[in-house]
Amino acid sequence: MDDYSLVLNAGSSSLKFSVYRQPEGKEWRLESRGSVESGASQRIYAKDGVGRILIDEIPEATLYDSREALEELRHWLRSRYEGVQVAGVGHRVVHGGARFSGPTVITPEVISELRRLIPLAPLHQPYNVAVIEAVAERMPDVPQVACFDTSFHAGHSSVAQLVPLPSEVRNGGVRRYGFHGLSYEYIASVMPQVAPELAEARVIVAHLGNGASMCAMKNCKSIDSTLGFSALDGLCMGTRPGSLDPGVVLYMFQDLGLSLKDVETILYRKSGLLAISGISSDMRDLLESKEPAAHLAVEYFVYRAAKEIGAMAAALGGVDAIVFTAGIGQNSSEIRARICKASEWLGVQLDPAANYRHDKRISGTTSKVSAWVIPTDEEIIIAQHTGALLGFQSTLKN
Ligand code: ADP
Repeated sequence: MDDYSLVLNAGSSSLKFSVYRQPEGKEWRLESRGSVESGASQRIYAKDGVGRILIDEIPEATLYDSREALEELRHWLRSRYEGVQVAGVGHRVVHGGARFSGPTVITPEVISELRRLIPLAPLHQPYNVAVIEAVAERMPDVPQVACFDTSFHAGHSSVAQLVPLPSEVRNGGVRRYGFHGLSYEYIASVMPQVAPELAEARVIVAHLGNGASMCAMKNCKSIDSTLGFSALDGLCMGTRPGSLDPGVVLYMFQDLGLSLKDVETILYRKSGLLAISGISSDMRDLLESKEPAAHLAVEYFVYRAAKEIGAMAAALGGVDAIVFTAGIGQNSSEIRARICKASEWLGVQLDPAANYRHDKRISGTTSKVSAWVIPTDEEIIIAQHTGALLGFQSTLKN
């Protein structure tokens, strides 16, 4: 019988899921993908592997947290995949700290360690851990694997990892970790097929979504990232500011008298594109808007991206290619064009027609630095790790 694995990505009010199936001896295949929303919006929806809607409903009873979201999901999975037992659950976990440098089979001891890392990622890690615990409780026989957003960056040099604060601050784990690692790992895994000339090149991968970062890759390995200790640094994001003078944080406490909670909310949920535009955190809304503040938000997004490309190029000692991925990177030819234009000084020459068509290669043939669009797929990476680590094909029960 085929193997099935469930991939979970738990947030504060949504539980994103993907179901993968691996027919014997074949590649993993996406069966369905969707989300259970348990916040202000209450909804369960899923599409199959080719995008047909399988369910889009408001749950009968109100869902208050990820445990209840998981129950709702199990209910739907049972009706959709009757008789199939999930052989393993793979989780996206934002922070692996210094200890987890690769996918890890979850044990009670691993869960305590993940809980210990909550202060390093307070807006993501608690939800990741909560849903791992809920699966352990409700599906005790199903093995679980944690895949970390930090792991791909584990090989950064000690200089790239450094946060130059006193050792009593650093001792608790304050260093640059880097995030979006599952996305970068996927890009690194397909780059040799998509563009063989990039496999050993110096590449800047720009993951531009609601959360945004860049990764400096050499030989398909991460050597630096614009995100560091938390998911706040680097590029301007939908609701996060990106690089910020820490003096501003002191000012918010000292002069504005804001509470810790207020400052946290400002930094994670009220800044970035949303704050500049005053309209939306969604790039599509901003590109369509005629408001000057929306134009300014887009301009700042592009400016910061170009600036970080310069920094990543310096970390790499030069750059051979730029790869765009994630919601904005994959879909917005305008943002790609503007970032490439601002990077012309590095030798990037866009092919406007190829960019407009969302071709894989979007730079001209004479461009010194090539530019590419490669759609990311973090979930397939989690499914592959989960299958590999749990040695599927032998564990499936009926
Ligand atoms: P997340 O970090 O939540 O996974 P995504 O990778 O899905 O985010 O990216 C979401 C962002 O992508 C939003 O800002 C959205 O506006 C943007 N986006 C999606 N499609 C387009 C498009 N066609 N043009 C411009 N931006 C787009």
